[in-house]
Amino acid sequence: MQDRFIYADNAATTKVSKSVLEAMLPVLAEQYGNPSSAHKMGREASRLILAAAQQAASALGCKPNEIYFTSGGTESDNWALRSAARLGSEQGKRHIVTTMIEHHAVLKCCGELEKQGFEVTYLRPDAQGRITAGQVEAALREDSCLVSVMAANNEVGTIQPVAEIGALCRSRGVLFHTDAVQAVGSIPIDTAAMNVDMLSLSGHKIHAPKGVGALYIRSGVALPPFMLGGEQQRGRRAGTENTAGIVGLGQALADVTSDIGGRSARLAKLRDRLISGLMEIPSARLNGHPSERLCGNVNISLDGVDGESLLLMLDAAGICASSGAACASGSLEPSHVLTAMGLNGQLARGSLRLTLGDDTTEDDVQYIIEKVAAAAARIGGL
Ligand SMILES: *Cc1c(COP(=O)(O)O)cnc(C)c1O
Repeated sequence: MQDRFIYADNAATTKVSKSVLEAMLPVLAEQYGNPSSAHKMGREASRLILAAAQQAASALGCKPNEIYFTSGGTESDNWALRSAARLGSEQGKRHIVTTMIEHHAVLKCCGELEKQGFEVTYLRPDAQGRITAGQVEAALREDSCLVSVMAANNEVGTIQPVAEIGALCRSRGVLFHTDAVQAVGSIPIDTAAMNVDMLSLSGHKIHAPKGVGALYIRSGVALPPFMLGGEQQRGRRAGTENTAGIVGLGQALADVTSDIGGRSARLAKLRDRLISGLMEIPSARLNGHPSERLCGNVNISLDGVDGESLLLMLDAAGICASSGAACASGSLEPSHVLTAMGLNGQLARGSLRLTLGDDTTEDDVQYIIEKVAAAAARIGGL
């Protein structure tokens, strides 16, 4: 009975795919040259990185020399926020606009910048987790140097109107950064059409390994470097490149964007089936937007049910899920995202996030519905 295993925590991290692993193995085993070396091995490694930048560029609708490889989403966010703030302050602009529901990689940078004298406006989302371009417009000031709004939220999956916000920022001459870590591979990304200046992504959320990511920096944006040292990556991101990870990231980006329509339609169908099954539970309510939502994301609250107990029961039934964000669970603090959306502490603590992936089947969805319903009936106390 306990043999069943379902991984429904793909927003926390994903499995390295077979094609990514196959692309990486020869790099780890044989093509170990330092990309900065002038000899044959070095040139080969350097060529692999260029090929990955080309894959990333076609996935994002940009040029290969606008891609900078980093250690992941957190570094990309830190680089974008801190360096854009520095750039702004050199022009006497010390105001930043962001949202209350960003990932902590963005929020903690904003907190740090506030200590350094920057002013930050944190936009509150509506009850479905949406921010509007109108809210951004109302918050902009003469001294605004940066707007950072995530493309899609990691907890509730709500998709933001990034293209509209980008057009607004471009017309006002304010830099626009988006954390697209969760959006890449789920919704089509076109940096040009979206008018973004900087975009963060991470490998391990799209079937590449942990510890590799990228920051897109639009050419013409004079973003200062964040990591100082060698002259790698056009002098803008020092440190010997993680060649194998970068090759894996390039392959993953090519894979997740090759049939994004088909893949997201399949996942959205499973997601909607899961949502409608879970909504039959009397104490359940859906968190996030009903339609402007990532294809693999389900987030519900069960009134009167403690999220942590629910997770443990699901874990015992072989289901990996999450309550709030991965980094927030373990602490008893309710999720900052759900709280910003207006949920009370009770409902925010009773939240359950199930994030589906390419391996999820219809059978899995049925099994999850049964197990959540059974757990809710038991813990709910009736
Ligand atoms: C996971 C995640 C990050 C952090 O990425 P890492 O590669 O784990 O550092 C940042 N933003 C969002 C929205 C995420 O989901």
